[in-house]
Amino acid sequence: MKIEIIKCLKDNYAYLIIDETKQDACVIDPSEAEPIINFVENKKINLKNILNTHHHYDHVGGNLELKKKYNCNVIGFIGDKDRIPEVDILVEDKQIWKDNNFEAKIYHIPGHTTGHISYHFFKEKKIFTGDTLFSLGCGRIFEGTYEQMFNSLNKIKKLPPETEIYCGHEYTLQNSNFCLANDSKNLKLKEKIIKIKNKLKNDLPTIPTILRDEIDCNIFLKAKDLKSFSKLRDLKDNF
Ligand code: ZN
Ligand code: FE
Repeated sequence: MKIEIIKCLKDNYAYLIIDETKQDACVIDPSEAEPIINFVENKKINLKNILNTHHHYDHVGGNLELKKKYNCNVIGFIGDKDRIPEVDILVEDKQIWKDNNFEAKIYHIPGHTTGHISYHFFKEKKIFTGDTLFSLGCGRIFEGTYEQMFNSLNKIKKLPPETEIYCGHEYTLQNSNFCLANDSKNLKLKEKIIKIKNKLKNDLPTIPTILRDEIDCNIFLKAKDLKSFSKLRDLKDNF
């Protein structure tokens, strides 16, 4: 299974998961259709499924056009059936979603929105976390509670440490400044920041990140309890 990272809008990432035995693909969170169409046409890939992590426009904006053009299925959380455009396959927490060689476990991870989910391709050890877990950060709490977001991050934290994290935005550098301000003695964080800056200088994504690195460096994953997590989240909103 090959992953292609596709830049969309200002700082969004859509991801293509390609089954190279058949050139079939799923796209995660296509915020817009055009960059996906360009890639798919160019490489002669068959787009089979659209997987949405949540209903925000910068994650579902390309659904309608892509479905029209490729007649692909749209997969989304059962609780968001009325707000994910063109959704046809509804999934729920802990369910395995499968289509040919694509197989992912769904985790309901509310906080950013009440219906946010992640797709864990457990055989490949890759998880698509949308706007819940970012590299060195986490999503803003728009609809859920601090407790929901804290619990959602803890679910991801329990996955194998070598798991690759693919998130919805390139926010890593901004996030790193906040981590550093609150964890200035963290040597692993400092090392990671050097790597991040190098990637960005060469116009490369800082994604994927590895769960192990996030556990060591992401201040939101280091929060010991709900109270300290909530305090950090408030501080970050005004950072
Ligand atoms: Zn969002
Ligand atoms: Fe977003």
